[in-house]
Amino acid sequence: MSASLRAFAETKLRALEARDLRRWLRFGVGDARAFQHDGRTFVAFASNDYLGLADHPEVRAAARAALDARGLGATASRLVVGNGPDYAALESALADLKGTEAACVFGSGYHANLGVIPALMGPDDVILVDALAHACLRSGAKLSGARTIVFPHNDVDALARLLAEARPQARHAMVVTEGIFSMDGDAADLAALADLAEGHDAWLLVDDAHATGVIGPDGAGSTAAAGLDPTRVPLQVGTLSKALGAYGGFLCAAREVVDLMVTRARTLIYSTGLPPSTVAGAHRAIAVMRAEPERRARPVELARRVAESLRLPRPAAAVLPVPLGDNATVLRAHHRLLEHGLWVPAMRPPTVPEGTARLRVSFSAAHTDEDVQRLIDALGSDPHLAETRPTGLWAGCRTTDTETRR
Ligand SMILES: *Cc1c(COP(=O)(O)O)cnc(C)c1O
Repeated sequence: MSASLRAFAETKLRALEARDLRRWLRFGVGDARAFQHDGRTFVAFASNDYLGLADHPEVRAAARAALDARGLGATASRLVVGNGPDYAALESALADLKGTEAACVFGSGYHANLGVIPALMGPDDVILVDALAHACLRSGAKLSGARTIVFPHNDVDALARLLAEARPQARHAMVVTEGIFSMDGDAADLAALADLAEGHDAWLLVDDAHATGVIGPDGAGSTAAAGLDPTRVPLQVGTLSKALGAYGGFLCAAREVVDLMVTRARTLIYSTGLPPSTVAGAHRAIAVMRAEPERRARPVELARRVAESLRLPRPAAAVLPVPLGDNATVLRAHHRLLEHGLWVPAMRPPTVPEGTARLRVSFSAAHTDEDVQRLIDALGSDPHLAETRPTGLWAGCRTTDTETRR
């Protein structure tokens, strides 16, 4: 055991703890609406299983059949012998859902972004990324070696200026954003971004992790919800792990772009294929999701009901942030909610920018009306929340750069 290594870890942990930034893994059994921890059951507004599909009987049955037929693991990369028969069906279902020529499934959403961005971009290129884009989008940009410019959150005018300035020196340009932002629950203006990107021959990548299955006709996500032709967002990334209740990530794009991934995306090539049960379960989840519009509408409806009761801004999908500001305050709020039997995660830097710690409330079709009323009562009666609620929602958030604050 290296003494300097242990000392490094200890010092680092102590410093994080002093700033209320240390994190802990908590064991428990969770699903779309409940979390069992330490002998107690909480109503949880915490999972991304927006539709309650992770334990849907048809999804379970499809996964179990694939497990029985083909065993636990894929045993190799998709390029070797890990490309089981269910992949083709899943990829055509994804392409059909998004209205693209082709789709490519990765090991996770994180893998997808880490694979797709460096497969397309390099040191002569420029990437413009929204300040509040997910960590893996930032990591993908960094890994590509391209010049990376962070633009203020959802600020299309600022992006226009930065793009006009940077574009002439770059071989290729990419604009990277999320359809629905994971920690803020707001939406990008995809029509404006598509216009801008097309005007500068920049490739628009939209990560639809929190929109797929939740918004848009058929649950197709933010491009369809904005009424855009799918070709206007040429790189549509997403995950199978949220509204689809499974695991894995994907890119929906033109045929040649998808074909390039198979030869160039390192996270696809050098990582094992997904377990067959996951691929088959995800495929079934898409079918259930598309067939049940009421299931898709419910989480958004619940998020809006709570926002209205608490006089918070209307969320664009199923994520509702309750801004509290500092880390200690948000941890206290989290613990007070536990006393009410409610599990609502506290989000702190670097997941969110400094000074914008918040409760992140996520809703699922699996929540009952009573669950939601309990949440409204608990949040509404919290004196501290009542006090902090009106203060500048996301002040400072629009320009901060979360990635540099580690
Ligand atoms: C959750 C999330 C990811 C990561 O997806 P996984 O499949 O969980 O790895 C990527 N991007 C965004 C915007 C996300 O919210």
